[in-house]
Amino acid sequence: MLSIRNEYKLINNKNSKSPSSDYIGFLIPLHPYKQKRIQRNSLLFSKTPENNKLNTEENKQKLHILLVEDNELNQKFAIAVLKRLGYTFELAENGAIGLQKFTEGKFDLILMDIQMPEMNGIEATLAIREYEKKNGIKKPIPIIAVTAFAMEHDKRNCLEAGMNEFLTKPYKPQEMEAKIEKVMK
Ligand code: MN
Repeated sequence: MLSIRNEYKLINNKNSKSPSSDYIGFLIPLHPYKQKRIQRNSLLFSKTPENNKLNTEENKQKLHILLVEDNELNQKFAIAVLKRLGYTFELAENGAIGLQKFTEGKFDLILMDIQMPEMNGIEATLAIREYEKKNGIKKPIPIIAVTAFAMEHDKRNCLEAGMNEFLTKPYKPQEMEAKIEKVMK
């Protein structure tokens, strides 16, 4: 019922709490954009545990994420987190593959490791920003550095290379989610 209410605006019969046998009304599909807004708003104000669970379909933007990470354990952990958070993703095993996949233009966001063979995360980010400039891409893709480096200057290097946020390993799923939501605002 909740999802039906989210997808349709109930008109008529305003005094009745639910459609009943004497219900004479009809449902109008809302514009998809409005549907999204309503879903997001209703969740913002919802305190029920059911709606605060991770991986609920309706509170997720449908993001397609490029995960650039060379370490197998880190890949496994990140993939588990992304699945739990309900995002779709593709894996690139180093910066060079990440850059190549980025140019396919199908991603909303990049999670970027720093230390990688072939091309590291800083180099890949510089190349991505360069590519965006050359190709007149007006909306740069958000890039979140995901790294065990926690020093201030490491963070500064990432931001100077053109990354938008910084997530320190190890991280909790909620921390990943918060960073993603922050850069997607
Ligand atoms: Mn690495």
